[in-house]
Order: sequence, then structure tokens, then C-alpha cells
Amino acid sequence: MAGSEPEGVGRRKFLKEAAAGAAGMAGAAGAAGAAESAPARHDHDHDHQVVPDDIALRVRALESILVEKEMIDPADLDAVVDAYENRIGPRNGAQIVARAWTDPEYRARLLADGTAAIGEFGFLGAQGEHMVVVENTAEIHNLVVCTLCSCYPWPTLGLPPVWYKSAPYRARAVIEPRAVLREFGVDLPDDVEVRVWDSTAEIRYLVLPERPAGTEGLTEEQLAELVTRDSMIGVARVAAPRESAQ
Ligand code: FE
Repeated sequence: MAGSEPEGVGRRKFLKEAAAGAAGMAGAAGAAGAAESAPARHDHDHDHQVVPDDIALRVRALESILVEKEMIDPADLDAVVDAYENRIGPRNGAQIVARAWTDPEYRARLLADGTAAIGEFGFLGAQGEHMVVVENTAEIHNLVVCTLCSCYPWPTLGLPPVWYKSAPYRARAVIEPRAVLREFGVDLPDDVEVRVWDSTAEIRYLVLPERPAGTEGLTEEQLAELVTRDSMIGVARVAAPRESAQ
């Protein structure tokens, strides 16, 4: 799964087209009416539950105002997005996992104080200031969610995947984690305890997945190659090299 994301349209192009499309629709329905037509069940004053259809339009409007007021430089924004989408990402987390698999002392430090141990790699910062690392074993399977919105450890995993931010995942991960895991292809025996960790604005979690059998001869770098984003969220296992090559 990792590395298979298709080359997307540029962020700016996407926003521009979304704005043009919305402007065309506004002529018929009225932009305000469209924005107000959220489902009736969505009655609290912040909408974590529903991603608005016109989110790209809203982002563009915000960006335009901030640029117009000279509060931001669009080039800086592009640099931030590029950093989290392309340069930072799950490869950082994979390095942490591979180190923990090969260095028992590092693993112990990581589980005792995730923030400090991740800081040894320099992978702290915005959306990852306070890190807790939870270890998957033969007896315990950890799963990470943000039930409120989309809190996620950016410096170690990059930006959260769309499904992580979706209402069904956020609700079901706590209600029926085993069923959710099964849908992701992780079928846990009944005697494996499932622990679900709800991220907050302060604390972000990283799962230390189980090291697969058959990887004894691999180097730290080779091990890091096996580690997927999903395995560090807890919705996948790390496959042994032969399985992952298929
Ligand atoms: Fe959140």
C-alpha cells in the first residue's frame, strides 16, 4: 500500500478547479444555501462529523484572504504541504520501528518515553510534540484512532489518510475494533487483547508493530522498507519479505 499513491493533481490546480465548479453551481442554487444544507443530525456548532463537499472551496477562500492580507506567502504554504505530503511521511516512523526491532535498548527507551526516543531521530514538532508508542505482541494488538477529528503524528507518519478522518472509522474503531481490523485484513484470535488508543490534540500514538518471522538476517534499512504506514496505525501487520513481495 505504501508508495502506491497515484501522482495527484497539483494542490493549487485542484483548489482552482473546485472553486470554478462551485462558482458555477452557486448560480443555480446559491452558495450560502449549499453550505447550509448539512444533515439535520449534525446539530453541534463544529463539524467534525461531516466533511463539507465544498471543503476545497473553503480552503481556497481562507488561503486567498490570508494571502491578500499578506499574512502568509503562498510559497510557504506549498512548502509546508510538500513537506508533510512528500518529504516527511511514514518512512520516518519506519526508521523508528526498524531501530526498535534491532536495538533492544532503543526499544526500551521508546516504550518508556516515546517523545524522548523519537526525539533522538529529530522526528518531533508540530502535531507530534507528545508521543506515546504502544507495542503489538502475540497477546496485545493496539489500534489508533482519533474519535473527535483526525489527530495523527505528522512528524513520524506524515498526513493522515482519508479513511482515518472518516466518521465510520472514528466511530467503529472504538465500538467494534475487531470487525474494523478484519475489514483491513487483520483477523485476530479471540485471545488477543485489542487496545484502542484515542488520540488527542496533545498526545499522538505510534504503534510498534510485531517484527515478522523470517527477517532475522535483514539490516535495519531493509527492515524499515517492510514497515507500512498502516502497520504503525495498527490496522495492518508487517508482512514478512516473501509475503510483501507478492
Ligand atoms: Fe483529532
